[in-house]
Amino acid sequence: MPHSPHLSETLPGHPHIARHGATLMVESLPAAELAARFGTPLYVYSRAAIEASARAYADAVGDRPVALRYAVKANSSLAILQLLSRLGWGFDVVSGGELARVLAAGADASQVVFSGVGKTDAEIEAALRAGVQCINVESLSELQRLNRVAGSTGVPAPVSLRINPDVDPRTHPYISTGLRNNKFGIAQSQARQAYAQCMQLPHLRVLGIDVHIGSQITEIGPYLDALDRVLDLVHDIERDGVRLHHLDLGGGLGIRYADETPPSPAQWIDALCERLQARGQGHRQVLLEPGRSVVGNAGVLLCEVVTLKSSLEKHFAVVDAAMNDLMRPALYEAWQRIEPAQARDGAQAMHYDVVGPVCESGDWLGRDRQLDLREGDVLAILSAGAYGMAMASNYNTRPRAAEVLVDGGKAQLIRERESLQDLLRGEHPLQD
Ligand SMILES: *Cc1c(COP(=O)(O)O)cnc(C)c1O
Repeated sequence: MPHSPHLSETLPGHPHIARHGATLMVESLPAAELAARFGTPLYVYSRAAIEASARAYADAVGDRPVALRYAVKANSSLAILQLLSRLGWGFDVVSGGELARVLAAGADASQVVFSGVGKTDAEIEAALRAGVQCINVESLSELQRLNRVAGSTGVPAPVSLRINPDVDPRTHPYISTGLRNNKFGIAQSQARQAYAQCMQLPHLRVLGIDVHIGSQITEIGPYLDALDRVLDLVHDIERDGVRLHHLDLGGGLGIRYADETPPSPAQWIDALCERLQARGQGHRQVLLEPGRSVVGNAGVLLCEVVTLKSSLEKHFAVVDAAMNDLMRPALYEAWQRIEPAQARDGAQAMHYDVVGPVCESGDWLGRDRQLDLREGDVLAILSAGAYGMAMASNYNTRPRAAEVLVDGGKAQLIRERESLQDLLRGEHPLQD
């Protein structure tokens, strides 16, 4: 593919990642320079892109009673949590570890909600002592547990019940969470009984109701279906004498990986608020828990081509990033755009499977990509800001990547590359 030197082309869905002629830029810095300076594999985030999506959410909310709770599991790096905290966001955490992270990032605990299907006593106690806004409870047995821990801790527990609305978000099965056969939430048919039980438990304070139907959702319809079901339940539950202060409608808004056209935050929030108005519920306090749509297209994973090899059937580009760095392709067969940091003229372009060095056939990052490559070239895997570093592991004793935040023409290392010493820390050799 020939590139004219002055052509500047933003990549679809990635407002602050662009090609200037042959050179891929993150804000004002060439991706290849970042790779040379910090090494690979390297996660690079655009601060402007994160702030722009955070602001798009805040602008969409305007003065409506909608509170934003960033879903930490999408990307839990401290500096990113700090950025969002400074912009006034609260957080949705799913473990004691994530709670500790948001507190370390300066979050106000009263703007933190705690979700998750298997909270331990120790995690619940930490959340109560920190003074979180709400604990989203996922089962009748967890209600009992929460009541017991709240009693022994001496802090009444603010509670929402996560209801499984049994709607199909029409996304990948591993990331749909609001279907009857998922492990998440309390069945709609048990909801009234569960709220009745809450009222009997002395250490619980009922605050709201919660749903989260899945991730990478690219249509409004499933959200409105879930909201309708929630509002029907709210009607019944309040008729039973329970007052609900807020509706937590979860996260899940999709991003553009390939040619998806997900609703914008404004379209999502407007649609929810319009439906609430239409049903006479416009006064309700709403919580939203977006994760992927805040950070997903603000990040890239840079890697270097280690080896080019061909079998009888295929050409492989073996790179120095792998499924332990970016698990989405292996786990969900996810497609993410792959771009050369410095484009060549295309004369030697071939169809490559871009794979990592991990000893698993599932270790691929992109299949059948037309690229003109030499060993040593740097590739950028796009849309890697969410569920990238946060899901990274040390499989094959591979140190986790470093992370860099780009701000205009400046780059700050926000997480050091792990060392082999880090990986061996805490292990004890045999005693005899
Ligand atoms: C994962 C999750 C989210 C965020 O989902 P995204 O697809 O990243 O927006 C929100 N709420 C809960 C309870 C979750 O588990």
